[in-house]
Amino acid sequence: MFKKILIANRGEIATRIIRACKEMNIKSAVIYTEEDSTALYIKKADEAYLVTPGPVEAYLNIHRIVDIATKIRADAIHPGYGFVSENPKMASLCEKKGIVFIGPSSSAIELMGNKLKAREFMKKHGIPVVEGSDRPVEGEDEAAEWGKRIGYPVIIKASGGGGGRGLRIAKTESELRRFYGLARSEALKFFDDPEIFIERYITKPHHIEVQVLADHHGNRIHLGERDCSIQRRHQKIVEIAPSLVLSDKKRKEMGALAVRIARLVDYTNAGTVEFIVDSNMRYYFMEMNTRLQVEHPVTEFVTGIDIVKKQIEMAAGMELGIKQKDVRVKGNSIECRLIAEDPRNAFLPNGGRITAYYSPGGIGVRIDGAVYKDYVVPDYYDPLLAKLTVRGETWDEAVNRMRRALDEFIIRGIKTNIPYLQAIVNSDDFKKGYFDTEFINEHPELLEYSSTVDPTDTAIAIASAIAMYEGM
Ligand code: ADP
Ligand code: ADP
Ligand code: MG
Repeated sequence: MFKKILIANRGEIATRIIRACKEMNIKSAVIYTEEDSTALYIKKADEAYLVTPGPVEAYLNIHRIVDIATKIRADAIHPGYGFVSENPKMASLCEKKGIVFIGPSSSAIELMGNKLKAREFMKKHGIPVVEGSDRPVEGEDEAAEWGKRIGYPVIIKASGGGGGRGLRIAKTESELRRFYGLARSEALKFFDDPEIFIERYITKPHHIEVQVLADHHGNRIHLGERDCSIQRRHQKIVEIAPSLVLSDKKRKEMGALAVRIARLVDYTNAGTVEFIVDSNMRYYFMEMNTRLQVEHPVTEFVTGIDIVKKQIEMAAGMELGIKQKDVRVKGNSIECRLIAEDPRNAFLPNGGRITAYYSPGGIGVRIDGAVYKDYVVPDYYDPLLAKLTVRGETWDEAVNRMRRALDEFIIRGIKTNIPYLQAIVNSDDFKKGYFDTEFINEHPELLEYSSTVDPTDTAIAIASAIAMYEGM
């Protein structure tokens, strides 16, 4: 087994990986920039190395990261999500320098990294994909031709896109013509590649993704699915496992298909196959994410399998050690992403000093956090403060538990989306499991939460009274 792992990431996911290392008696090393020097994960790691330049560039510098790994004698690098995690050059550089990259091979990352190529590959193997342009769209007129053939609405995607960015929906030909140029220049700016393509836009779909694990010995399994349909601007906010809409038959089919895809692309380590599922429960391959996902805790909660430990073990050459028939999904899990933003003010990111921080506890509650009291949330990074995940024996219990845990969560000094998450979780449609990817747009009233009476004031008063009493 590895003796030391360098974590090439920051924030909550760095902490998540440090925790797995600690339980496996592996030393953890992290990198951080000056802008990040007070971050929580640095305090938790065994070793921490300052990298420049900040705030972001150093986290993307694959040569510098691999150099550090070599110098500090790390056996392996865990890339987390975002940053270098889906950079095939990072994986191949590690392969060259004799450091283990905790993830799939560079060729698997490369094949799945381009959405259009991945689509073509799946189509070639008879895997259903949404009807689309099948090749890069070059020029407004060509876009309009495809639009006519496919039928409106259509969604414009950047081949190199990710993180919910670079997607645009066109309802008419004139919209498509108008968005074409914008989409290309945006794709170039954000993903360094202007290539775009078009797909039919499925109305009221579910985003359902399957977690797969594959070792270097040919063992491949899936850990069931997650439904990540509660999204704002194509970014997930609330994720659940298992899905509430899939029949057992579909669930089995999609799981088997995800495993087949992993085999076809010679995939190793942990990965996720994302499907878009229409209202008739027809599913289509959307993309494969060749890394750990933000929402992996919901799967861990219902299967009891530590995905990060499995990633490390498989990267070290160990066998998976779990058979498909031994994977059991028990209960229901929900994750909420707690974000430093002001939902009432166009969801503007909201940095600043955290003046109070109390996270919930109790049965079936898990926190993957990135902040603490007096921490100043920097403006430069993803404003994710913490992930709150719960599990219940039933969906109803999970919903009630999430409601209770959100009520207990206190973050003061900065605006957060907690009241908005409370509104979502308390809505009738959510409780009944009636939601698809249009849920957030269809429920603008959820933004009308009251912020006049702050129940946290009472909680803070109680907490400080206890603190004072204990201090006496
Ligand atoms: P990203 O790489 O940014 O995650 P995806 O291709 O996975 O991009 O799509 C992100 C989200 O956009 C999906 O979860 C879904 O809500 C929406 N979406 C993508 N393709 C379609 C489609 N063909 N029809 C309807 N919605 C789609
Ligand atoms: P998930 O792991 O659930 O699919 P996201 O799609 O939100 O989560 O992506 C995970 C993180 O990685 C986010 O913080 C997002 O900003 C970042 N990210 C994902 N893809 C890219 C990309 N192509 N370029 C830059 N950042 C990305
Ligand atoms: Mg996606």
